[in-house]
Amino acid sequence: MPDLQRVVSEIVDEMRARTDRGEVATYISELGRVDPSLFGLVVIAEDGTVAAGGDCDLPFSIQSISKVFTLTLALGKVGDRLWRRVGKEPSGSPFNSIVQLEREQGIPRNPFINAGAMTVTDVILSGHQPREALGEILRFMQFLGQDPTITIDEAVAASEQRTGFRNRALANYMKSFGAIENSVDYVLGAYFHHCAIAMSCRQLATAGRFLAHLGRNPDTGHSVVQPERARRINALMLTCGHYDGSGEFAYRVGLPGKSGVGGGILAVAPGKASIAVWSPGLDPSGNSHLGRLALEAFTKRLGWSIFGM
Ligand code: GLU
Repeated sequence: MPDLQRVVSEIVDEMRARTDRGEVATYISELGRVDPSLFGLVVIAEDGTVAAGGDCDLPFSIQSISKVFTLTLALGKVGDRLWRRVGKEPSGSPFNSIVQLEREQGIPRNPFINAGAMTVTDVILSGHQPREALGEILRFMQFLGQDPTITIDEAVAASEQRTGFRNRALANYMKSFGAIENSVDYVLGAYFHHCAIAMSCRQLATAGRFLAHLGRNPDTGHSVVQPERARRINALMLTCGHYDGSGEFAYRVGLPGKSGVGGGILAVAPGKASIAVWSPGLDPSGNSHLGRLALEAFTKRLGWSIFGM
């Protein structure tokens, strides 16, 4: 077993010393207030060994990383019928792009671009009041993250409610194609709120463990999904988890991963570990700049890319 803690500590030191940190997202005003010098990294190996460094216990806005978990919940509800409403292909477009939706008649390319994640949220909402659906998502995160204190940052949700004009346009546009069942306001409200869940790297790495280990948490033995479903979610994370930066992430890091505009990335080393990194500054594709560099350094040092050394 490699000395994970030593590698994590080295990478945290290297990243903290860097001056190129990317740009903090400002289109959600609350996110613009986060200190760009924060950095956290947590790796949880299959045997439960935790290697942690930096600001790894500070909660941050998980934003689009929540889409991995809402996808898991929606697949649990409707199974493969979900794929009638959302595709599985990389979009090659920015996370909030509207252009493909017109050509594809309101069927989003994949569940990780904003339009696709709203379709997934719509599936979770159906038959429930927004409050119940949101409670279900939050309890799922608390269960997976093994921490009942995980919560929604209401200030972040409210700030996106105020300024999420483009997401509002996407949801309305899909509704015009009949691709959204519930009221647009309900879908947006639930979507903004699950994006505003706040978690630390430690909680997030814990929550991702089932993806690294065939659908089950190896410590608790809890089976979250069947192995085949975990494999498929990982495949989507690899091909679509970083929007139009997904190819670059696969090329450099070589692990399934999902980013969020809060600067977090959840990465999965199948059979080996669940990894969460956080650095608020983003690259032009909206993915954490230092987060990606840290994961690249980490997989290189350990030879953990799924594509080999
Ligand atoms: N709530 C954000 C949005 O819809 C999520 C985007 C992201 O994290 O990539 O714009």
